Amino acid sequence: MHHKYDVLVVGAGGAGLMAALYAAKGDVSVAVISKLYPTRSHTGAAQGGVGAALGNIGEDHWEWHMFDTIKGGDYLTDQDAAEVFSKDVIDAVYELEHMGLPFSRTPEGKIAQRKFGGHTREFGKAAVERSCYAKDRTGHMILQTLYQQNVKEGTTFFNEFHVLDLIIENGRCCGVVAFELATGEIHTFQAKSVILASGGYGRIFKITSNALTLSGDLMSIYYRKGLPLEDMEFYQFHPTGLTKLGILITEGVRGEGGILRNKDGERFMERYAPTIKDLAPRDMVARAIYTEIRAGRGCGPAGDHIFLDLTHLPPEQLDAKLPDITEFARTYLGIEPYTDPIPIQPTAHYAMGGVPTNIDAQVLRNNTDIVPGLFAAGEVACVSVHGANRLGTNSLLDINVFGRRGGLSAAAYANSLAAHVDLPDNPVDDVVALLQRLRDGGGTENVATIRSELQETMDAHASVYRTEETLKQAEVDIAGLKARYVHVGVADRGLRYNTELLEAVELGFLLDLAEVMVVSAKARNESRGGHFREDFPHRDDVNFMRHTMAYKDGGDIRLDYKPVVQTRYQPMERKY
Ligand SMILES: Cc1cc2nc3c(=O)[nH]c(=O)nc-3n(C[C@H](O)[C@H](O)[C@H](O)COP(=O)(O)OP(=O)(O)OC[C@H]3O[C@@H](n4cnc5c(N)ncnc54)[C@H](O)[C@@H]3O)c2cc1C
Repeated sequence: MHHKYDVLVVGAGGAGLMAALYAAKGDVSVAVISKLYPTRSHTGAAQGGVGAALGNIGEDHWEWHMFDTIKGGDYLTDQDAAEVFSKDVIDAVYELEHMGLPFSRTPEGKIAQRKFGGHTREFGKAAVERSCYAKDRTGHMILQTLYQQNVKEGTTFFNEFHVLDLIIENGRCCGVVAFELATGEIHTFQAKSVILASGGYGRIFKITSNALTLSGDLMSIYYRKGLPLEDMEFYQFHPTGLTKLGILITEGVRGEGGILRNKDGERFMERYAPTIKDLAPRDMVARAIYTEIRAGRGCGPAGDHIFLDLTHLPPEQLDAKLPDITEFARTYLGIEPYTDPIPIQPTAHYAMGGVPTNIDAQVLRNNTDIVPGLFAAGEVACVSVHGANRLGTNSLLDINVFGRRGGLSAAAYANSLAAHVDLPDNPVDDVVALLQRLRDGGGTENVATIRSELQETMDAHASVYRTEETLKQAEVDIAGLKARYVHVGVADRGLRYNTELLEAVELGFLLDLAEVMVVSAKARNESRGGHFREDFPHRDDVNFMRHTMAYKDGGDIRLDYKPVVQTRYQPMERKY
């Protein structure tokens, strides 16, 4: 079936829904395609809050937020993006409030704010209350609010449609190819502008906070066309996932006064970050946790986790501010957080890298030139506002600020074209061939087995700590898995709701992205933000103050580099 719109949005998380709302303001026809029902998108799992320098509790300024974002990103942040971001987000939060988002409130009725990792006043003097929250359900509220607004505006949704290809003709993006889950039918969507808002790819790791569906589909599809992925070696590990499960316990817990303790009961973050302690940025806290565990100070019989202690906080505070995460501890670990500390370990959480864009969300085909008609926002994109390490609350910001900019840019571009660009003759051929091979190719390799072996090797060799040796091992393992993936087959040959078939496709995307991460990480002989090389433990601004751009080049990966945009702040030593 063939469809035609001015603007197409791939993804119905916060970034996609914001982009759709703003594109519609440009008086163009807009459709959103999502492999999930919109309100099941991962944005709905976000807990802790959205950061904005409203100053409702203590004094705050957008310059302080900009500085914290750049320092938090270990100076790899593009500073023009950080400036736009810290300024725009203030309006974005009030806009969400006016749309009806039920924020928690201060006694005088203002939007409540709490402390979060790496957010400080006066350029690092002390932690500041910057995270605007709705209990520990902030993402859920954002997603519901934006979905309602889209319903009100009459946005067209194609739900449970899985995009499997981007149509790029003569360097311009002119549509997508999608698989309808309910029927197995292949659809072509022709458009003047396409906005990628398809989220992250945390499922390359085993212990992760990410939903099962976060397989980086559009990143990989983009990359397979010979177009670059930026800074893929930078992946964030959130310090506090439930041990062995990875289910997230928000940093808002430490914002409310929660404390990390080792087996001796010591508040060890005092040693690693004397000024803001447990509220240091995530990369530093995740490393501190593993350093404690490696030094034999981990908790539990195996010494393999750390305690997050809330027992000194009044139960009424936990019930009012953190109802969901206390329930997670009870449900998944049988722990009562009123009286017992919660066992945690770092969990794979957020992709700093992705599809490169400029601050108007236009996608870049190299260091400077855009792909006309293609835009990206949210976790799939790398603008790069988060640099080498994202601060907590800055992603929910990113999806609003750059979702909005993406929607506006896409609509303006669509309006500038007199007519749609013609599609190539057989736009669905590649997708049909891929599905046929998986369904009817007689392959005997099993999807779940390959995926779990990939996740094991990534957890063991490419996570919080890396060395050239471990990364080489990961590379060898991934090459072996890719060779086996060629022989993957599925048992379900049907057309309707063939989720097994789509999981097989997603596994191909995961393998690509894992490989790009490992190759990019192996070439970065320094430690910066979320990328820590034990064999090169220091930041090296002389050789590595630059973004990585990874291109698919036949069967190989070619690496190029791009300068970092520095405007106001010079790199400093990162102390907290
Ligand atoms: C547990 C958890 C808690 C978090 N808490 C916070 C927090 O408190 N504060 C904060 O700032 N950040 C937080 N984050 C990070 C933040 O929530 C995410 O980075 C952000 O919500 C991503 O939004 P998105 O719109 O880019 O993507 P998502 O919300 O992940 O949406 C992706 C969309 O793309 C669609 N899609 C993907 N592939 C395809 C395809 N092939 N075809 C069609 N559709 C496709 C999906 O259906 C979905 O609608 C948290 C993340 C997690 C996992």
